[in-house]
Amino acid sequence: MSRVALVTGGNRGIGLAVARQLAKDGLEVAVTYRSDPPPEFFGVRCDVRDTESVDRAVAEVQERLGPVDVLVANAGITRDRPFLTMSEEEFTDVVDTNLMGSYRVTRRVVRDMMRRRSGRIVMVSSVAGLVGSAGQANYASSKAGLVGLARSLALELSGRGITVNVVAPGWIATDMTSALPEKVTATMHTQVPLGRQGTAEEVAEVVAFLAGEGAGYVTGAVLPVDGGLSLGR
Ligand code: NDP
Repeated sequence: MSRVALVTGGNRGIGLAVARQLAKDGLEVAVTYRSDPPPEFFGVRCDVRDTESVDRAVAEVQERLGPVDVLVANAGITRDRPFLTMSEEEFTDVVDTNLMGSYRVTRRVVRDMMRRRSGRIVMVSSVAGLVGSAGQANYASSKAGLVGLARSLALELSGRGITVNVVAPGWIATDMTSALPEKVTATMHTQVPLGRQGTAEEVAEVVAFLAGEGAGYVTGAVLPVDGGLSLGR
């Protein structure tokens, strides 16, 4: 029987690329979406800021496909602004989506994984959570929080056959980065040792590795997928 994967925010960007890669690897894939339904895959509407919405979405997936074997907590937003002009709402909204949203979905699927003594959880953090990012105090805090969450869970769930890992993408071509102002992106490639922007598919390959059979002995890892950006040259 195929393993079942749930990807949050799988209707576009990195989430959609991950869903496609996991499907290619033979998993049955469900994705959550908030605005537009996914072009392919079984989609469930879900706002990760709302516990009831998360409960309903996961229940729908379990009903249609069975228990979730692989969770990819990918849904995320940015609300960039210099720290002193960043409102409390802009800070908490980002933390509520990126960190608390991942917490809510993980909490909803993990009990089942514990009972079944197997599971793979991959959290999509960011290089910003590892090295910091000016104008992204809210975002970097939320993404650093994911590392603490994942590594704590890796310890707590290790006896139950569940692995918990983090990918930390750098500068990846999606709607999120296409919204960045020209003056920010103009010099980006000079800061990336590999000299170019990454693709959603390149992140998806790494997520799929962590979700796959070959990564059975990998837990609590934080894997940058950033062309070397976090090396800080
Ligand atoms: P996109 O903006 O292209 O996609 C974001 C996804 O998150 C969408 O599917 C969106 O759903 C979903 N989402 C946002 N808010 C919520 C919410 N409240 N509830 C449910 N779903 C939500 O971004 P990317 O694909 O670029 O980013 C995906 C992940 O990768 C994010 O966590 C991001 O922080 C991380 N990342 C991205 C990098 C990049 O350079 N692109 C770099 C480092 C990390 P909808 O379409 O319905 O709004």
